[in-house]
Amino acid sequence: MGRHRLCFGLRLALEAVFLTLTLSGFAGFVSPHSAQLRGRRHMEVARHAGPDGDDKTVLILGGGIIGVSISYHLAQRGVKSTIVDRAGIASCASGKAGGFLARNWNAGTPTDELSQKSFDMHEETAKELSLSSYRRLKCQSVAVDGTGAKPAGAKLKNLEWTDLGVRGSRLMGDESTIAQVHPKELCDAMWSYSEQHGSNFVKGTVENLCYEDGDSERHIRGVVVDGQKMASDVVILSMGPWGEVLQQAVPACSMLGVKYHSVLMRSGRVLNEAVFFSGLGDPEVYPRNDGNHYVTGFPDPPQVVKEIPGEVEVPW
Ligand SMILES: Cc1cc2nc3c(=O)[nH]c(=O)nc-3n(C[C@H](O)[C@H](O)[C@H](O)COP(=O)(O)OP(=O)(O)OC[C@H]3O[C@@H](n4cnc5c(N)ncnc54)[C@H](O)[C@@H]3O)c2cc1C
Repeated sequence: MGRHRLCFGLRLALEAVFLTLTLSGFAGFVSPHSAQLRGRRHMEVARHAGPDGDDKTVLILGGGIIGVSISYHLAQRGVKSTIVDRAGIASCASGKAGGFLARNWNAGTPTDELSQKSFDMHEETAKELSLSSYRRLKCQSVAVDGTGAKPAGAKLKNLEWTDLGVRGSRLMGDESTIAQVHPKELCDAMWSYSEQHGSNFVKGTVENLCYEDGDSERHIRGVVVDGQKMASDVVILSMGPWGEVLQQAVPACSMLGVKYHSVLMRSGRVLNEAVFFSGLGDPEVYPRNDGNHYVTGFPDPPQVVKEIPGEVEVPW
């Protein structure tokens, strides 16, 4: 979170694609049928015809925004894929995030161009998929120190900032550079498109990568899901902060997760300005266009994630 947040999903998607190119091998199983969603369990990888006439298979590990976004963009290019996920599509951070998008907040960093590109792509994708939650809005940053108090009997609309212990505020962006989308709606719509174009889903836990040692390179040939081998020409690793499997492939890459906490609040009207508070746990408030207000913040320190996907503990 914070100022250097990623433009939701797409930058990471590109990173995951890069990993794919680096790690993928070939081989393959067949057949494009949906599994878990029909209550049956198939361990098969969707197959599509490659430009050279050969069948190829693409296996995506993890059905968060990264995996789903890759599957969607492949489907748009006529490539079917299979997603394996232990907990379901967008069941973790990608279904529960703020979905806040800032065009320029990575200015001056190596990801600036990518952030701007992905911000624009979000608007295109929202149109393509007719997403109802996508909209532009303003964002304000407000520093609070907790010294303020609501004067007895005062109506909120009559309060001055100083009554709330506010030490300063500034506009962080307006409708030209700030947007939001409900992450679950985005993921579900992308997956729905991909599934309609022949991709399939397997519910299961990825336990291991399968290799075949070549003369000069160690190729990934597939994975082990719940004790069963699934072979694939291409394997894409997109399992969020659950990095143990990734670490087998890239031992130097240590994945850490930061747990944020969030609540939904509801008001009688739709507000159009996100507010990032600085102080008191740095809560961030994103009003959505359905009258819900998503409030998040209070991060735990970065750590190796041991909790099971979909069963992340909420401390009270
Ligand atoms: C509270 C909160 C608010 C956020 N707000 C924003 C925001 O406003 N803007 C923004 O840009 N970003 C935001 N983020 C960050 C953003 O949500 C994440 O960066 C993004 O969702 C990560 O997507 P992912 O696909 O990498 O991972 P995930 O969504 O974590 O998906 C990983 C998937 O892999 C599966 N998986 C893991 N291990 C295995 C295994 N062994 N076998 C099978 N499946 C497995 C999991 O079940 C999960 O579905 C927020 C995050 C949080 C927590």
